[in-house]
Amino acid sequence: MLSYSVKNLLQDPSLRIPVEITLEPAVVRIGEEEYLTLEEWKVTGELINVSGTAVLFEGRVVTAIEMRCARCNTPVTVPIDVTIHQRFIKEGSEADVPEEDFDYLFIENDRVDLDDTILYEVQLGVPMRVLCKEDCKGLCPICGKDLNYGSCNCQEDDSDPRWDALKDLFSE
Ligand SMILES: [Zn+2]
Ligand SMILES: [Zn+2]
Repeated sequence: MLSYSVKNLLQDPSLRIPVEITLEPAVVRIGEEEYLTLEEWKVTGELINVSGTAVLFEGRVVTAIEMRCARCNTPVTVPIDVTIHQRFIKEGSEADVPEEDFDYLFIENDRVDLDDTILYEVQLGVPMRVLCKEDCKGLCPICGKDLNYGSCNCQEDDSDPRWDALKDLFSE
């Protein structure tokens, strides 16, 4: 648990609590998918006093995950670099929160837990799909050959005889 006491912070507006932690590589689950992080998670930032009842975590998480190319299934290393702006408030002070900052978590027993917010932001930073390279040719839908390493024979007979008939028509 990445739990920080904000007791003093809530009392002293000039105080800032630096956050600098390194987390072991872990699996990120998104729905049915699981992605392995290949590097440690470097979390940096600070906890800032917003008012006597609220603190803000301003942070950044840097790591890298392994995904598979959406076309050819080759493993791809995807850098993750997300910023976090997470407000924590004391229970009962909901009315003081500006409408645009509705997305808050609670300060419990004068402490904030950063685990959930870090994991959540990393999940959001995972792209829907990646390609190993911009012009990845993908796999042949018929024989499964990786077309980045040369073509297969399936493609050669995929011309449509109806088009050949048209071509003959126009060439006359
Ligand atoms: Zn690919
Ligand atoms: Zn093929």
